[in-house]
Amino acid sequence: MERRELFSFLSSSVKEAAEKNKNETVIIRPPYFNDADAFVTECQNCEAQCATLCQEQIIFIGEDRTPYLDFSKRGCTYCDECATVCPSDVLLVANKRKIFADIVINQDKCLSWQGVMCFSCKDPCFEDAIDFKAMFMPEINGKCTSCGFCISRCPADAIDILKVSE
Ligand code: SF4
Ligand code: SF4
Ligand code: SF4
Repeated sequence: MERRELFSFLSSSVKEAAEKNKNETVIIRPPYFNDADAFVTECQNCEAQCATLCQEQIIFIGEDRTPYLDFSKRGCTYCDECATVCPSDVLLVANKRKIFADIVINQDKCLSWQGVMCFSCKDPCFEDAIDFKAMFMPEINGKCTSCGFCISRCPADAIDILKVSE
């Protein structure tokens, strides 16, 4: 497969995945669990210290009384606090891992992909995980930790969260 064809194929695959995820509610968990079922069995009677003590205040408790991350204002610093305070070991520092989500730039909505100079997503990224080609066409590279800090900074709401299997 030619390089251009490969790029086009990868680009359309990401778009298809983004389209599929639009209709799904993406639930993102704090990055310290080993067993996803434990949220359902262990969190019901907890006072949700993880949400109270999250330094970035991005942990919220859903109607099912389980915690999820909301990147609409800030992102996760992987500070370990939620895992340290969890009384039921649903979250454990020893289980620290990358957040189960892929962060992708929606090329149809991104200003830079439409030819407008914009670096709003690059500035908050501590990992240098967003590459620009000749100052345009940003793409997220393999250094991304899925921390979510870039999402709220995009003026075009062009950064999508794709669910990955836990
Ligand atoms: S690691 Fe820190 S910033 Fe991330 S969700 Fe837990 S408490 Fe919040
Ligand atoms: S502190 Fe632990 S047990 Fe309590 S809601 Fe958070 S994850 Fe669940
Ligand atoms: S590109 Fe990845 S590492 Fe950089 S701010 Fe966005 S989510 Fe975080």
